[in-house]
Amino acid sequence: MNKKIGLFWLRDDFRVLKNYGLIEATRSHDQVVVFYLYKKHNYKYQEAQKWWLSKSLIYFRKNLNKLNINLEIIETESFKFFFEKLFKKNDFSFYWNKVYEPDYLKFDEYLVRNFRNKNILHKICKGNTLNEINEIKKNDGTPFKVFTPFWRIAEKYYIEKIPPKEKLIKKCFKSKNYFENSIDPKEILPNKNWFKNFENLWLPSEENALKELRNFIKNKITKYSESRNYPNIVGTSKLSPFIKFGQIHVETIWLECEKIKPKNFGTSKFLAEIGWREFNHTLINHFSHMLKNNYSKKFDKFPWEKNSKFLNAWKKGLTGYPIVDAGMRELYSTGWMHNRVRMIVGSFLVKHLLINWKEGEKYFRNCLLDYSPASNVAGWQWVAGSGADAAPYFRIFNPILQGEKFDKEGAYVKKWVPELKDLPKKFIHKPWEFNDEKFKLGKDYPKPIVKHEQARVKALSAFKKI
Ligand SMILES: Cc1cc2nc3c(=O)[nH]c(=O)nc-3n(C[C@H](O)[C@H](O)[C@H](O)COP(=O)(O)OP(=O)(O)OC[C@H]3O[C@@H](n4cnc5c(N)ncnc54)[C@H](O)[C@@H]3O)c2cc1C
Repeated sequence: MNKKIGLFWLRDDFRVLKNYGLIEATRSHDQVVVFYLYKKHNYKYQEAQKWWLSKSLIYFRKNLNKLNINLEIIETESFKFFFEKLFKKNDFSFYWNKVYEPDYLKFDEYLVRNFRNKNILHKICKGNTLNEINEIKKNDGTPFKVFTPFWRIAEKYYIEKIPPKEKLIKKCFKSKNYFENSIDPKEILPNKNWFKNFENLWLPSEENALKELRNFIKNKITKYSESRNYPNIVGTSKLSPFIKFGQIHVETIWLECEKIKPKNFGTSKFLAEIGWREFNHTLINHFSHMLKNNYSKKFDKFPWEKNSKFLNAWKKGLTGYPIVDAGMRELYSTGWMHNRVRMIVGSFLVKHLLINWKEGEKYFRNCLLDYSPASNVAGWQWVAGSGADAAPYFRIFNPILQGEKFDKEGAYVKKWVPELKDLPKKFIHKPWEFNDEKFKLGKDYPKPIVKHEQARVKALSAFKKI
């Protein structure tokens, strides 16, 4: 046993199971301290996630305490500043897991360099993906830009890997504090009270992640490939925030799905969605410019319009298009939005309103509990047409037809846009055609801010310019 203390840097890995760095630390040291570095600035535009983070710290701390491990939360304005002070000590060994984002991976190189120079024992372990980013390449050694061939190879590669011997976490001998000035997780909560509703909907703990997964597998996965399209039913797993914060490892998801007998199409479709997440992570690492700019350079010349009135109407769910408004209100109220509706509201912003996808990406970042740079940027660029393997720009979602197809009865709209709850089904996705003295368009519900057909023609002509 290493006599020094084992320090584990907690980032997106709020779990005990398959937390490779933490497991290594507990198996090598009698005493382990887990610490989280809270950089307020990083969360400036991630208000919803402050709530998830704060709760996750509370739940994870309880689990760690049972293992005689303390969790300390340190507020810092700069990781470098924090580590420069830490490098001056030599009474610890250091453990952490990868986060597959270019800035984090670059920072890991800096850490490794310094630990080596200072002769500090350190170990960086696999993060929350099935394969490592660099493992999946085309035959010519270049990264994939299209999902289907990527996933064919990635899935096969993962299946054929020899699974490492499963190691479990070890209870520590005695708990210990290491840092000074640990803050209370409640200090992280957003100032605005709108997150109160999240409390009724989500339980951000590791145990709950596994429970939700098993519940989904037992009751929903068989029909997943069909039911995932309908926002009025809970047909998907809703595991995304748990995966983002690492309350569950995607390897655990894979293993639980492996147990399903006989195999069904729903399961492979579900695992392919995990594959999209994996694909997005490889994209942002191989083409890191896409995190801030268009993946496809030709979109740099796209004639986006600046229109704060339209942008605000979109954010508030007051565009006059019921399925769009329902989605935006669901997002604000629950911190989550159904994937089908993410595509519809995204398309509406960039194609009907001609507003740059970066505005939508920024707003989603602030409101989504599952916000992840890889999937948000890739999702937005997929919708805008500027991404890798993206929907072509000229394919413009018609919000009326999308509503009629995926929310046939209007149940989703009625739930989130209660002003429309008494409208006959026929008009629920086009309330402007409803003529009734009890319903005043423009007063009870907004008139459409743009006309679909005109907006479509305008979008296509803007696209022709590039
Ligand atoms: C504009 C836009 C922005 C998005 N932003 C994010 C984001 O910030 N974070 C995020 O996790 N997902 C994002 N997505 C992808 C997707 O909408 C969510 O992952 C999904 O809705 C989460 O719900 P679920 O857990 O029930 O998914 P399920 O259908 O149950 O899928 C299981 C898991 O697979 C992954 N997954 C599913 N669909 C996708 C997808 N299309 N792309 C990548 N991974 C996927 C997620 O980790 C998800 O939890 C975005 C999609 C769009 C169109």
